[in-house]
Formats: sequence, structure tokens, C-alpha cells
Amino acid sequence: MDFPGLFYCKLNSILIYLLNMAYKPTIGLEIHAELKTNSKMFCSCKNDPDEKRPNFNICPVCTGQPGSLPVANAEAVKMVIKTGLALNCQISENSKFDRKNYFYPDLPKGYQISQYDMPLCQKGYLEIDGHKIGITRIHLEEDTGKLIHPEGADYSLVDLNRAGIPLMELVTESDLTSGKEAKEFAQELQIILRYLGVSFADMEKGQMRVEVNISLSKTGKLGTKVEIKNLNSFKTVQKAIDFEIERQQDILESGGKIIQETRGWHDKKEITFSQREKEEAHDYRYFPEPDLPPLHFYKIFIEEIKNEIPELPEQKRKRFTKEYSLDKSAVEIFIINKDLSEYFEKVISELDEWIEQNTDNEFKKIVKIASNYLVSDVQGLLQNKQFVETEFKIVPENFAELIKIICKEEISSKIAKMVLSDMFHTGSDPSSIIDSNNWGQMSDDGELEKIIKEIILKNPKAVKDYKSGKQNAVQFLAGQVMSQTRGTANPEKVGQLLIKLLTNLSDSL
Ligand SMILES: [Zn+2]
Repeated sequence: MDFPGLFYCKLNSILIYLLNMAYKPTIGLEIHAELKTNSKMFCSCKNDPDEKRPNFNICPVCTGQPGSLPVANAEAVKMVIKTGLALNCQISENSKFDRKNYFYPDLPKGYQISQYDMPLCQKGYLEIDGHKIGITRIHLEEDTGKLIHPEGADYSLVDLNRAGIPLMELVTESDLTSGKEAKEFAQELQIILRYLGVSFADMEKGQMRVEVNISLSKTGKLGTKVEIKNLNSFKTVQKAIDFEIERQQDILESGGKIIQETRGWHDKKEITFSQREKEEAHDYRYFPEPDLPPLHFYKIFIEEIKNEIPELPEQKRKRFTKEYSLDKSAVEIFIINKDLSEYFEKVISELDEWIEQNTDNEFKKIVKIASNYLVSDVQGLLQNKQFVETEFKIVPENFAELIKIICKEEISSKIAKMVLSDMFHTGSDPSSIIDSNNWGQMSDDGELEKIIKEIILKNPKAVKDYKSGKQNAVQFLAGQVMSQTRGTANPEKVGQLLIKLLTNLSDSL
């Protein structure tokens, strides 16, 4: 039987299309963050993630003693609502706590107080590079204790300092499509949590934990989900996802099947490995926590929390780009380091009055110089340590003064770096550093002319070269002048005077 030519052709191209179509990854994240409240979630024990003495911050409530009763920490509830508002979520007017029942030695009560069907926040989103990543829910629960397995011992120890620390759990929709995007989502969330002041969100310290679920599919139907746990840095989130996409793709392409399981990340080998195969969904026998009353929030309460939300990273990104015309990489350094950006704005406000007398172009130039010295030179002096204003010896006034001196070209950029380094270590003001070292730019034209004349006399060969048209002879002579003046002369002025004197010299010959 003959197929019509056109139909045959179409069928062929569809087959080729299907064969070449790559598997599309579908990625969702589950992120836990410890809240930085003063006390724990359901008792008055101190919430101190840095406490080293085991079982120090504990009481009958957080160790699950019979007859003890929990009381919800209002501050923790507010923090989760604040986060939900910052992430465009709907805040539930009615909410409640539930018991999630399971047995594990780090969970003294035999259940975890969490939230099941009425989480505090739902249906939000966070935009990453113009792509909206849906947030399914954010709820509040308590953290578990920590198990310690002494090497070689046939027993384990439990430390309950962490048990009962308020823990926020955020679940995203499966909207992410790559390791890079997942990493950027987690990074942006960390910045937001820090701006809101709700969590230190340090991944290395386990204050923020990211779990990934990922599946691959060629069709609209979702593939088998694999979970990846124990990712303790943003870099490993990206690497683990990229590795997993490739691993699953290889299996599927060779006709294999993906097993539903939980995998861990091997840091040294840079691979994921099977930790346990997932049985059918665990039955946690959730039921409402009978010892805690349901929660009801009035609109005015939510409004009040909304008013406490500070400028968020994305708003700041846009404002910094527009107001200060800074490039993307400088803006990003300021976004990540809130303290540094606040310091920068203090410096700019110190310069404000002076800037007002300048044109728009000059304003941009001054701002750029201030930003450059902060994001490159100061960062260099800090040797990769985080900028913390309270530990920084240079007050904004003095930093602004230095920028003024640089802009007025009263010192060369080489001297400016020396002055900055001195200020960084001593906290002195720039003028007195310049005066005491005699670093002021030579403003006396007469004296500079005298030095240039001496240099010309001392270097007859360079003068001869100049006369025979070799332009780099001027650079050589300028270098001599700069070294003679220990870098305090204005290089532009040196160049101009040199040419003037050399021309006069040629004319007079
Ligand atoms: Zn306690």
C-alpha cells in the first residue's frame, strides 16, 4: 500500500522530532529554615544554635515529658507570615497545628508538632530572572534533636538543644528546570530571609536545609520522582541536580527505569548515591494538636506585619541600578551584603551636599568612584571577610572625605590606595594621613615646573628621542617626574607641562 508522499514525510519528521527531544527535568524544592527567635517554638528555652554544651537549653516541654503543655511562640508565627507576605503568598485567616506521628530517637515526644492541611501561607511565588517559581505553602513546625554517633561506640547519644527550635518549611511548585535556577532560587530566598531578619539561614550551619525532588519526562506526564537530601551549600544544590539530570537521562535513554528513592550527595566523588528506596508514602497519622488552640488572624494584624517588611532585595536591585547607575556585578555585591550597601548609602548622603553642586554626569562619576573603592579596594583589605559596619574602623564621614579628595584629584590613585589602607587600619581621617605623610598632590605649578626642568636636563637622550618624534619618550620622562615627586604629582598635569616645556625647548633651538 502506498502512503501519500506528504503524510509519509510528516510521519518521518515527527519520529525524528520525538527521538531528538530531550528529557525535560521537573524540579521542586523543600527548604527548611530555623527561625531566629529568642526562645523555642513551644517553651521558654533559649533558642541558641551556637550552644555547644549538650542538653543545656532543655525543659520538660521540649523533651516531651508527660503532662507538659506547649505554648506557641507568637514571634515565630509572625516571622512565617512576614516571609509569606514577602513571597506574595496568601495568608490563611485560620490556621492550626497538627501532630505528625513517627518514631525516631531524636524526637522525644514520638510526634512532631507541625502543620498539615492549614498552613500559615499558601500560593505565593518568587521571581528568578523573570521566571515565576510558585510557592505551594509555608508552614511552621519544630525542629528535632540531634543524634551523635561516637566513633567506634556501640551506642548513640542525643542532644536536645535543637529540639523545639522553630522551623519554617517552604515547599515550591515543581516549576524549576535546572540546577542553576534551583541554586539561584535558594540564594535569593536566603537573602530575603536575612533582609526580613527571620533567619540567619546559614547553610553550612544547617540553619537552612535544601531538599530537592526531581523527575524527567519527555511527555506531559510526570516521571518517577527522586529525592536528594543533605545538600549543605548552594554549589552542591546545583551540582547534585545537574548530576541527577544526566544520571536519569542515561538510564531512560538506555531503556531503564528510574527507582523512586532518596539519594544523598557525595561531596568528594561529586555524585548522588542511593540512601533508601521509598516505600509507599509514610502514614504519619496527622491529627490536630489538642494542646494548642487553633489560630485566627485579623486583617489588621496581617497589615501590621506587612508594614514591617523592609525594602526587599529585588526592589533594592532596581533602585540601586536606577538611582546610582551601577553595573550589575557591583549592585549584586551590595545586594548580598546589606551592611555594605547601607554603608555605601551613608557615604553618598555625606557627599550629597557637595554632589548637589555637580552635574548629573559628575554625580555618576563620584558615585562610581565611591562604589568602586567599596566593592574592590575595601573588599581586598577585608581579605574575603564579610563587611560588618560595627567592626569597620572608617566612619562614613571620613570615607566620603576620601572620595572628595580623590574626585578633586588632590591625590593620585596610587596614594589614594595607601591612604585607604591607613584609614582601614587606624580609622584616622584622610586629611591628617595625607598631611602627616606629606602625600598631598603637588598643587604648586611653579615647583612642579622646576622639577620637570631638572628631569629634562638630566635626560638629554630622551629629549633627543622626543625631538626625533618618539612619543614614548614623554612617558619615560613623566615616569621620572612621578618617581621624583613620590607619586604626589597630578599625572595629567605632568603630561601637559612636559609637552609644553619640551615644545618650548624645541622652539628655542
Ligand atoms: Zn524547652
